[in-house]
Amino acid sequence: MFRLDKKVALVTGASRGIGRATAIAMASSGARVVVHYGKNRDAAEEVVKIIGDAGGEADIATFDITNSESVEAEIASVEKRHGRLDILVANAGIAVDGLALRLRDEDLDLLWQTNVRGSLMAAKSALKTMLRPKQGRVIFVSSVVGEMGNVGQTAYAATKAALLGAAKSLAREFASRNITVNVVAPGFIDTDMTAKLSDEQREQLTKIIPLGKTGSPNDVAAACVYLASDAARYVTGQVLRVNGGLYM
Ligand code: NAD
Repeated sequence: MFRLDKKVALVTGASRGIGRATAIAMASSGARVVVHYGKNRDAAEEVVKIIGDAGGEADIATFDITNSESVEAEIASVEKRHGRLDILVANAGIAVDGLALRLRDEDLDLLWQTNVRGSLMAAKSALKTMLRPKQGRVIFVSSVVGEMGNVGQTAYAATKAALLGAAKSLAREFASRNITVNVVAPGFIDTDMTAKLSDEQREQLTKIIPLGKTGSPNDVAAACVYLASDAARYVTGQVLRVNGGLYM
């Protein structure tokens, strides 16, 4: 429904889960997609193949999002290769769960470096490429827990809440350049990240979700496609919640 023809989109963490679904959805909406991965090249190549088999265009980029120099260099090389970068979906992230009294410095540091610093450095590099053409879309993938909190997720929730403040600030800073910056905040989505939940936890969870079920990566991908499309040209600094009503 929403088209991204002639756009170049970089999706971080696109070898699996929400990033994978978003890369495939953006390609099927007409974008040329750069499938970023951290470790699993075979999985990223499979995503490129799925896109190619469906008649779309995609290639691969790799960098560790905690390494700012490599983030900057690789995003610059995406722009060089494609001549432009219109859309960044800063999706790559990690969850380290644990009760607050057991929080460890190293977990806090890793969560911050990955979820916040990694996403912001990717955004900074992408925004640089969007300045001159005076157009661009940055989408941060946050989480429902960044807004509502969750037992055992203090540190993770803090990093996801940080993205909301960052996105709103960037939205204001880059609005005059016709660049929008928004957040997609997924609820509980069936991916590797949530696969560790026990059946009991899953049952408890679905009880408190008004729509009565967990979401699929495609539900989040659709929100990203919308925010990247011309239909969302007047939407910036917003949080689009894809959570089955879990938080309103
Ligand atoms: P996932 O674990 O399947 O995917 C995360 C991706 O990020 C992986 O491809 C991983 O390789 C990549 N990544 C992590 N650290 C990296 C690093 N240092 N360098 C490069 N790549 C790195 O998880 P997912 O469920 O698909 O989650 C995607 C995003 O959505 C995450 O930011 C997550 O916090 C968020 N989210 C997920 C859910 C959910 O229920 N699954 C809910 C809310 C938010």
